[in-house]
Amino acid sequence: ARSDGLEGQVSGARVIAQALKTQDVNYMFGIVGIPVTEIALAAQEVGIRYIGMRNEQAACYAASAVGYLTGRPGVCLVVSGPGLIHGLGGMANANMNCWPLIVIGGSSERSQETMGAFQEFPQVEACRLYSKFSARPSSIEAIPSIIEKAVRSSIYGRPGACYVDIPADFVNLQVNVNSIKYVECCMPPPISMAETSAVRMAASVIRNAKQPLVIIGKGAAYARAEESIRKLVEQCKLPFLPTPMGKGVIRDNHPNCVAAARSRALQFADVIVLLGARLNWILHFGLPPRYQPDVKFIQADICAEELGNNVRPAVTLLGDINAVTKQLLEQFDKTPWQYPPESEWWKVLREKMKSNEALSKALVSFAKFPVPPLQCTFVSSSWAKRTDVELASKKSLPMNYYTVFYHVQEQLPRDCFVVSEGANTMDIGRTVLQNYLPRHRLDAGTFGTMGVGLGFAIAAAIVAKDRNPGKRVICVEGDSAFGFSGMEVETICRYNLPIVLLVVNNNGIYQGFDTDSWKEMLKFGDATTVAPPMSLLPHSHYEHVMTAFGGKGYFVQTPEELQKSLRQSLADTTNPSLINIMIEPQATRKAQDFHWLTQSNL
Ligand code: ADP
Ligand code: MG
Repeated sequence: ARSDGLEGQVSGARVIAQALKTQDVNYMFGIVGIPVTEIALAAQEVGIRYIGMRNEQAACYAASAVGYLTGRPGVCLVVSGPGLIHGLGGMANANMNCWPLIVIGGSSERSQETMGAFQEFPQVEACRLYSKFSARPSSIEAIPSIIEKAVRSSIYGRPGACYVDIPADFVNLQVNVNSIKYVECCMPPPISMAETSAVRMAASVIRNAKQPLVIIGKGAAYARAEESIRKLVEQCKLPFLPTPMGKGVIRDNHPNCVAAARSRALQFADVIVLLGARLNWILHFGLPPRYQPDVKFIQADICAEELGNNVRPAVTLLGDINAVTKQLLEQFDKTPWQYPPESEWWKVLREKMKSNEALSKALVSFAKFPVPPLQCTFVSSSWAKRTDVELASKKSLPMNYYTVFYHVQEQLPRDCFVVSEGANTMDIGRTVLQNYLPRHRLDAGTFGTMGVGLGFAIAAAIVAKDRNPGKRVICVEGDSAFGFSGMEVETICRYNLPIVLLVVNNNGIYQGFDTDSWKEMLKFGDATTVAPPMSLLPHSHYEHVMTAFGGKGYFVQTPEELQKSLRQSLADTTNPSLINIMIEPQATRKAQDFHWLTQSNL
C-alpha cells in the first residue's frame, strides 16, 4: 500500500504514456519543461525510449523519420506556446513527406484559458494546417481513445502528422485507475487493392508501350514494396528511375536503373508507371517540355485525391503500392510478357547512360587529381565591382564537390544510412552517393527543408541501435545546412551515437569566400553592408562543435586527409565524429560546366 494516499490512482502523464505504449509507439523525442516533463518521465517508465533534443524542430524531424523508417509513428513532445510553434516546422515537413508522426503538446491550464495564461496559444487550431488530425481530449478518461485515433490516423490512408493537445492541469491530475480504459492497439492499416478492370487496363497499356518507364517514389519505399517492384521491373525488363528518396527501393547499380539518363528517360517515355511519387516539382509536374505532351501516366497511389493532379492519367490504380504491384505481376504471370531488351528505347537509354557515365568518369578523374579552378569570376555581383577586389582563388587545392563525394563513396559501407542536406552538397551528392537498400536515404524531401539532417541522423542511429546494431549513419551536410540544427551534436554525443557527420564547407550558402578575400572585402566596410548575404564566416572550425562534447573532430583540406579521417571515423564504432571538409568556396560554378548534372534534379 502507498503512503501518499494515491493508492489506486494514476496521473494524466502516466495515462498518456501507457496509451502510447499500448498503441505500440516506442520512441519519443522532445524537450521537457512545464508542463510536459512528467510525460517524458512516465514514457520512460512504461518502456518508451526518450531522446531529449535541443530544439523542438529537430526533435520533430527525428520523430517523423522514425515513422518513415519503422512504419510506426514516433512522438515529438513539446511544451506549450513557443515549444509547439518550434515543432510546427517538423510537423509540416512530415505531413508534406506523407510520413506518420504524433506531436504531443502541453498547453496552458484550462481554467486560465483566454486570460493570457503562461504560453497560451490556440494550439489545436495552429496544428490543423500541418496535420491530418488535431484534437484535445475532453478529459483524462478520453486520452486513450484520442491517442488511438491519432496513431491510427497517422498510418491509415496517406500517412501524416497528428496532434494531441494536453492541458497542463491534465498532467498531474490523479484519477482512479479503474476509470481508465485503454483502447486496444489499432489494427495495421487495411490494405486496399485497385479495381481489377483498372489493373487489366494498366497491364495492357504497359504491354503496348513503345518507350516505357517506371518511376519509384518514397511512397513505394514507405509501403515496403521493394520485393514486388523489383520483380515487376526484372520480369518485364522495364527501365526505372528513382526519385531522391525512392533511391534504394531497387539498388542504384541495378542494370535497369536509368538514373544516368534521367532527362532523356523522362522526356521521351510514352508510358510512365508512377509508383508512390507525386507529380510535383520534383518530377516537373509531369508536364512538357520535360515530358511528351501525350505521355500516358499509370498512376498508383493510396490517396485518391492525388490521382489526376497536374495531368490526366491514362489509368489510375488506387491502392497500396505493394498490393497494386502484385496485382500487376499477376497479369504478367497470366500472360507472360517482357519489354524487348533489344528495343530502340533501351538502346537510346543505354547510349545516353554510357556518354553520361563517361562524363562522370572524367569528373571522377578530375576528382582524383584536383586542378586549379577553371574560372572564378563572379557572375554579376555589383559589390564585387564596387570594391574592385580580385577574389579568384590562387591555390590549386581547395577540393571540389566531386573530389569529396568520390572519396566518400569509395569508403561508404553498402548498408549504411545516408542522410543529406544542403544545396549543392545534396544535389551533387545524390548523383555520386549510391543507395543499395530501401529507406536508407533521408534528405530535404518534398518540402526542401534545411535543418533536417541531424534529427534524421539521430533517428536513424537510434533505430539502427535497436534493430541493426553496427549499421552506420553517414550525415552529409552543407555548412549552411549544418548550422540550422548544429547544437544537436550535443544530443549525438550524449546518447553516444556513432554518427559520421561530414560538413562540406564552402564558407557559405550556395557559395562563399576564402579568408583572404573576406578580409580584403571588410576593408571596404562593415560586413552588414559589404558581405554578400550568402557568405558565412570563412574557415570555420565546425569540427570543434563535435570535440566540445567529446566526439572526434577532423579538419581536412586534402583528399589524403579526407580519406584518412573517414577511414578512422568508420573504424570507430563507438564515438561520433565530425569531418569538416574545406572545399573551393566557389565550387558551384564548375559543376555548372557539366550541365548534364545540374539538368538532373534527381
Ligand atoms: P517522392 O518525393 O519520392 O516523389 P512523394 O512524397 O511525392 O514521393 O509521393 C509519395 C506518394 O506515395 C504520396 O502521394 C502518398 O500518398 C503515396 N503513398 C504513401 N504510402 C503509400 C502506400 N502504402 N501505397 C501507395 N501509395 C502510398
Ligand atoms: Mg555551403
